[in-house]
Amino acid sequence: MSRTRPIGPIGPMGHIGPMVRRRLLQAHVSQILACRLCPNMKQPPVSGGAVLSRVLLVGQAPGVREPILGRPFAWTAGKRLFSWFQQWTGVSEEMFRTHVYMAAVCRCFPGRNPAGGDRVPNPAEVEACSQWLRQEILLLEPELVIPVGRLAIERFIPCPRMDEVIGKLFRSTLYGREFDLIPLPHPSGASPWPRIEPGKTLLARAMTLIARHPAYVASFPAKPPRKL
Ligand code: SF4
Repeated sequence: MSRTRPIGPIGPMGHIGPMVRRRLLQAHVSQILACRLCPNMKQPPVSGGAVLSRVLLVGQAPGVREPILGRPFAWTAGKRLFSWFQQWTGVSEEMFRTHVYMAAVCRCFPGRNPAGGDRVPNPAEVEACSQWLRQEILLLEPELVIPVGRLAIERFIPCPRMDEVIGKLFRSTLYGREFDLIPLPHPSGASPWPRIEPGKTLLARAMTLIARHPAYVASFPAKPPRKL
């Protein structure tokens, strides 16, 4: 059982300044890293750090390399994901990591699936880890959320088929906060979906929506957005 406790309940944060918010976020990240709640998950948890941002990226769960490297999307899927942001928004991996808060449905590596690939987190693990996402949405009050992969997308909206949700902007609500949602497919090399039609076109459409989103543009003030 974890000895950590979430920092809630948190009310509306509009009156709280960035310095206090940043301190709360740093405490929040420390709590995540200390969490040992799920017996079948492979700890330590992975965090992208306390980045005060109005843009929140939500992955599924770390792979086997991320806990060793100590950051989310640190291996091949990450290379592909960051190549999308570089290609369509002109933002490098380093800039992205510095300016966007990176969360996940589960913060620990679930372990291998005996049938191949990584184990999909079970509903109890997803529910246990949702405490962290809840705190992040209340603390950051994001204007744009980018869920990556079906497990992450389904935390916000139903996803019967990827081609029904990729390439679209949704208005979504979670934990009493409202924000724009632009889903992305998972960048894993095992999935050909983003590389073949209609996935290729829909991915380009989703990335264009992100590149033009006011919260995303405002997150990178030092760099003018690419003309698309
Ligand atoms: S998956 Fe989430 S809730 Fe479970 S131990 Fe890891 S950080 Fe804690």
